[in-house]
Amino acid sequence: MSIHVAIVGSGPSGLYTADALARIWPDVEIDVFDRLPTPYGLVRGGIAPDHQSTKAVARAFERTLSRAGTRFFGNVEIGRDLSYDELKAAYDVVVLSVGAEIDRPLGIPGEELPGVYGAAAFVGWYNGHPRHRELDPLLDGRALAVIGNGNVALDVVRVLAKTQAELADSDICAHAAERIGAAQLQDLYLIGRRGPVEASFTPIELAELGELGRCDIVVDPAAVAAEVGPEIPEKEVKVRQRNLEILRSFAARVGEPKPMRIHILFNAAPVALLGEQRVSGLELERTRVVGGRAEPTGERFELSIDTAVAAIGYLTGPLPGVPFDEKRGRFANDEGLIEPGVYAAGWCKHGPRGVVGTNRTDAGVLVKRIAEDLAAAPPSGGKTGTGAIDALLRERNVRVVDFAAWKRIDAAEIARALPPKPREKFVTPESLLAAAADH
Ligand code: NAP
Repeated sequence: MSIHVAIVGSGPSGLYTADALARIWPDVEIDVFDRLPTPYGLVRGGIAPDHQSTKAVARAFERTLSRAGTRFFGNVEIGRDLSYDELKAAYDVVVLSVGAEIDRPLGIPGEELPGVYGAAAFVGWYNGHPRHRELDPLLDGRALAVIGNGNVALDVVRVLAKTQAELADSDICAHAAERIGAAQLQDLYLIGRRGPVEASFTPIELAELGELGRCDIVVDPAAVAAEVGPEIPEKEVKVRQRNLEILRSFAARVGEPKPMRIHILFNAAPVALLGEQRVSGLELERTRVVGGRAEPTGERFELSIDTAVAAIGYLTGPLPGVPFDEKRGRFANDEGLIEPGVYAAGWCKHGPRGVVGTNRTDAGVLVKRIAEDLAAAPPSGGKTGTGAIDALLRERNVRVVDFAAWKRIDAAEIARALPPKPREKFVTPESLLAAAADH
């Protein structure tokens, strides 16, 4: 008897889970659902467009999706086209791997002003996520603040600071490349509420800022004189020390001034976004780190800015019927188990942390657990997987984009790109579905 598995979300956590399942059960039947017509989740819509080598993992995911016994159901949204209960009724195992795509709110006054964006929307805009294509961010000013000291914040400042030539071999969408190319930005502020030791940058990504052709990095040498203290977990120490070395090398740089600057500010907690018709300032409060936490000092200052991007983490959106942990902004689960037969994987399980490869290790652990649970309570054999689901989708006239149709989109995007650009993405549902059509 083969086991029928539904995986909801075709990003790294879902596809590494599919891969791990197929390794232990070669006969497993896996249906991978995605509400977009395109697979690979953050590999397509999140990873920075100039990080093509990281995106190359899509080739491995392509093999996962083209395995006999695995089917891709693109353009199928759970909660709209199929219900959670229908999935549970059709499959022995359901794995939810929908990620975390909602911007965590800053929770400060002025957050709703025009010119203030969350990183999910902003990154989605330059990466051609159909949902954020229309964001049309205000990039007409001189100064922009990116709030957050993680890798997403680094991605945003780097992409904005790159020249058109530096972005030429990226897959940034044409609409965003044009807008960024026309922008007159001079000062980008990268703002951490804690200190340089606590920043969650990874060294390779931090060092990349030092390679920008038209942009200086401004760091106060006194701010990066800190040392990694005993409160930092042992496994993190090397990374934090390396970050400090890189920051100090930025602070020590001399040379001809460049037309743009990235100012890296630490110990500055956002208090309010200021402005009337649109954002015009950011009020910050100096902090000191005590026991790992940012404590306010009462000393406030303002930056004059024209745009702000908050890169402070993401939340998972609720799915009708799926138990949800409101406080943490993810599915309620116990080490991945949501309820018997239903599991969570990746960011919707444990929040937005880790890099693509982290999901591979996590998938191994999750699949071991699924195997143990199935051994303890073997499936009855009554669930038919695709059979039942195909009928429902047909009945509801859902335009399913299968793997062959995705490959048509893929080929068309590659064909229409101007070299050295690797692809020019279709960014609206209509254009994606048109490219998916089998003429
Ligand atoms: P992150 O690493 O958790 O960073 C979030 C940042 O936001 C932290 O500096 C955090 O500060 C700050 N923050 C949170 N709430 C704040 C608030 N209210 N005010 C001011 N600052 C606030 O998350 P991320 O950058 O979104 O990245 C998500 C995951 O994707 C990470 O694991 C990251 O490494 C990964 N990623 C990897 C790459 C890559 O490998 N190239 C690229 C992009 C993303 P505190 O530390 O003080 O909370």
